[in-house]
Amino acid sequence: MNNAASDSPVVSVDHVWCSYGDFIAVRDVSFAVARGSIHALLGTNGAGKTTLLETIQGFRQPARGHIDVFGFDPARERTRIAARTGTMLQESGLVDEMTVAGQLELWQGLNLREDNPDRVLELVGLTHRRKVAVSALSGGERRRLDFAMALWGDPEVLVLDEPTTGLDPQSRRMVWRTIHDLVAAGSAVLLTTHYLEEAQSLAETVTILDRGRVAREGPMADVLASIPATIGFTVMAAPETVSELAAQLAGDLDASSAAGGTRVDISTSRLQEDVGRVIDWARGHDLVVDRLRSSPASLEEVFLVVADADAEAASGERTSA
Ligand code: ATP
Repeated sequence: MNNAASDSPVVSVDHVWCSYGDFIAVRDVSFAVARGSIHALLGTNGAGKTTLLETIQGFRQPARGHIDVFGFDPARERTRIAARTGTMLQESGLVDEMTVAGQLELWQGLNLREDNPDRVLELVGLTHRRKVAVSALSGGERRRLDFAMALWGDPEVLVLDEPTTGLDPQSRRMVWRTIHDLVAAGSAVLLTTHYLEEAQSLAETVTILDRGRVAREGPMADVLASIPATIGFTVMAAPETVSELAAQLAGDLDASSAAGGTRVDISTSRLQEDVGRVIDWARGHDLVVDRLRSSPASLEEVFLVVADADAEAASGERTSA
């Protein structure tokens, strides 16, 4: 995170509820996105991500709660906010009959931010397709053209709904590199994605939604620490010696016999302390721990814990209905 990220948030979502008629799609969601940072909005299908992104852009009004973007209410000041925001939604607004360059020239005429088609085409690797009709682009190329329009004029806020879905690995890297450059220059990015590894390595803060509610929220490191980390190793030790270690740990230990000794797996919410205890224990018994690895939970593991809890809750609701 760069220094600019310590500024007050550019996007602030405060106890927001959204509904479609009687159906409540978003319940009491709060989070903030700082300048110069990336916030990932995650959740299972239908969790309410797109609804929230649309509400943040002023396309719909929250049923309750308050949203603030650059100090404005998006539902009332949509045009002011749009002038400073780049957007990439799941459904693109491309015109099939135009050429790629023509589409961007049209965009140039409509946009308040200054930029030029050649620059953004170069950024998204579509320069060689500039004279082709939009209808002739592949799915991934259309997404890249959408992305070119979102980053037109280096917006202060970038709202991206699954920007890398359907892109090949090289194009996904291009999208992330470009997002990174914008963030380094001070832009705030709010995005949804189902690529959790990408979200984990790139976003500073995260909200995981579960059927419209916040299941996890905060700095990425805190969200990852919300479920136990793991320590694993193999050791030549008697079961009593391993039991001695188990008694000293904050976490839970599971031992099983494996080729080359006993396989030990520890699940702990005090990773650093327990790694220290493993090493002290091995030293104290003059043991060699082999293939020692320790790692915090991944975002995917946290996500699966949330999704499993959601599936259980849904099945409980069905049973009691
Ligand atoms: P996905 O990951 O599948 O894109 P999402 O998290 O973006 O899902 P939303 O599209 O925001 O989810 O939908 C949230 C809930 O609101 C879903 O249950 C969806 O069926 C419902 N919903 C979305 N749009 C409408 C609408 N126009 N009318 C009624 N219900 C809607």
